[in-house]
Amino acid sequence: MRLIVDAHLDLAWNTTAFDRDLTLPLREMRAAESSMQDAPLRGRGTVTFPEMRRAGIGLCIATLLSRSGPDHRRSPRYRRTDLDHATRLACHAAAHGQLACYREWERQGDIKCIRTRNDLWAHWEQWTSGQPLEDLPIGMILSMEGADPILSSDTLSPWWDLGLRAIGPAHYGRSHFACGTSTAGPLTAEGRNLLHAMQQLGMALDVTHLSDDSMREAFDLFDGPVWASHHACRELVPGDRQLTDSQIITLAQRDAVIGVPFDAWMLSPDWKQSGGDRSRVGLQNAVHQVEHICQLTGSTGCLGIGSDLDGGFGTEQTPHDMDSIADLQRFAELLSEHGYADSDIDAICHGNWLRLLSNSLPQ
Ligand SMILES: [Zn+2]
Repeated sequence: MRLIVDAHLDLAWNTTAFDRDLTLPLREMRAAESSMQDAPLRGRGTVTFPEMRRAGIGLCIATLLSRSGPDHRRSPRYRRTDLDHATRLACHAAAHGQLACYREWERQGDIKCIRTRNDLWAHWEQWTSGQPLEDLPIGMILSMEGADPILSSDTLSPWWDLGLRAIGPAHYGRSHFACGTSTAGPLTAEGRNLLHAMQQLGMALDVTHLSDDSMREAFDLFDGPVWASHHACRELVPGDRQLTDSQIITLAQRDAVIGVPFDAWMLSPDWKQSGGDRSRVGLQNAVHQVEHICQLTGSTGCLGIGSDLDGGFGTEQTPHDMDSIADLQRFAELLSEHGYADSDIDAICHGNWLRLLSNSLPQ
């Protein structure tokens, strides 16, 4: 089995938003949801901790995901007044709630929070030591998907102390800091201050979900480590959620890594054209994303995995030949069938992320 680094999972959000017990075997988590109808993903999950171990995922970047920007006010009837602060505080508190999940999982021995370069390599050594993977904690580096939980850029340092090592300033819609997917426009003044504070602390910037203008500005303003945690190619799948060729080239020039996502709609335009028919999208389409980025940048050096497989969907929205996160192993086999060398497949599955994360984390 090939070891994998998965650069994007929303694990704690699955517990706080869907009451999921990620310590269960996948079959049991699905069975527990079999009578639930509140969301299409019920009974169709693809990610639990035992399943991640089966997938060979020794390390992931795990998010805190909570939003309060102008497009995400919980009570739209509030006019823009001081009450906005209460919405921001609720969002801040929600992220702390997710943090409590990671803390508890760490206490139980399910995961290990990775904060430093030394943590990273000590952990990876454990995963490559030949011990049975089912006994090992899964390494997690904390990132924020959308920076709204941060009340102001001068309160970033406590988040660093809590283990936060990367931030994507926006998610869908506008955050307090940047324009995200489906919106257009630059960073806000708060967003520019945030990037400055991140750089001072040594936090990495995840450009995934930034609008084109916000991403361009972020590239200009931010000198620290950069990545795109879960991002496909606009040349293959139209839409502002995907990276343009020139954004991909900029990322490669900055030694970034781009995580290939496994959300069917991002992998092929056939998903939308067929009205969400998963039989039209396969793991093959993820290989096409790899091929495009290789051709554009001349190597596999900026490629990784950022599966996003627990990002609000289940098997109704995965490639047809993917039933669980463990099928990432099948993706690795497919790369081999397409003629990729073992060393390139290892680089895509874990090597490139390990290099970048090692360079990004503090000593
Ligand atoms: Zn996302």
